[in-house]
Amino acid sequence: MMIRVEDLKFTYPQASSETLHGIDFSIEEGEIFGFLGPSGAGKSTTQKILIGLLKGYQGVGMVMGKEIRDWGQELYEQVGVSFELPNHYLKLTARENLEYFRSLYSGATLDALDALDKVGLKEDADKRVSGFSKGMKIRLNVARSLIHKPRLLFLDEPTSGLDPVNARKIKDLVLALREQGTTVFVTTHNMWVADELCDRVAFVTAGEISAIDSPDALKKKYGKREVVVELAGDGDDLQAHSFALDGLGTNDAFLSLLDGTRRVETIHTQETTLENIFIEVTGQELVS
Ligand code: ADP
Repeated sequence: MMIRVEDLKFTYPQASSETLHGIDFSIEEGEIFGFLGPSGAGKSTTQKILIGLLKGYQGVGMVMGKEIRDWGQELYEQVGVSFELPNHYLKLTARENLEYFRSLYSGATLDALDALDKVGLKEDADKRVSGFSKGMKIRLNVARSLIHKPRLLFLDEPTSGLDPVNARKIKDLVLALREQGTTVFVTTHNMWVADELCDRVAFVTAGEISAIDSPDALKKKYGKREVVVELAGDGDDLQAHSFALDGLGTNDAFLSLLDGTRRVETIHTQETTLENIFIEVTGQELVS
């Protein structure tokens, strides 16, 4: 077990109310686990507790078999963190930034150029970071989080601020890391990121978790088990007919539509999106 959290509660110092109200989840080694929820749900707060940045939590918070408050600096040899707002040395080049961070680790590290290649910044290795776009800085941040080959990686909104091509690159990188056995904890308010990347996803709103499962299992549980057949009608009109998926093979009304008398234009099962499920389960929208 990589992470185990039980009845985790947290109140920010000076805050008038509790932010996390007792959450439970665990993450297996090699799993990509996602926290899906709108802004302000408590996703970053949870990540910051897990990496030891926020102290004074209540409940159980175990990372790699040890309570977080008992870990010292050595935790950071094994954990990589890429949070939303990158802070780099702007006067240094991308390569120099990574060389600097590499030097802080005692264990094996990636070659700086290889790390930049993974995030599509190889060509920009020797440019000063001050001239980087926001998206380039975000990608440099991801490269930095990987430089010491962490066993456990925390990514906060990994594709936010990236164009589709670079977002794809980061998602592919995360999937490749899982192949190598890395455990990844992702937070996002983007249902596509959760759907594409996560083995399991937790729905988080207002400091609580209301469901945890694989995206597929959630869709099966909440999707309508129905198929809609559209037939060519008069002119451009299509005629839609819905059938229950269960017993479809012996449903005469369905089978008669397929007998070739009329042309079938489309056949679709009614799969729902993670966002629809999120709204159904939590009563809240992902993006407000
Ligand atoms: P998310 O990552 O899901 O957007 P956060 O974990 O950042 O949510 O925030 C959860 C709640 O905690 C929000 O209501 C936010 O206003 C509050 N919060 C975040 N940081 C602080 C802080 N430093 N002090 C007090 N409250 C905070």
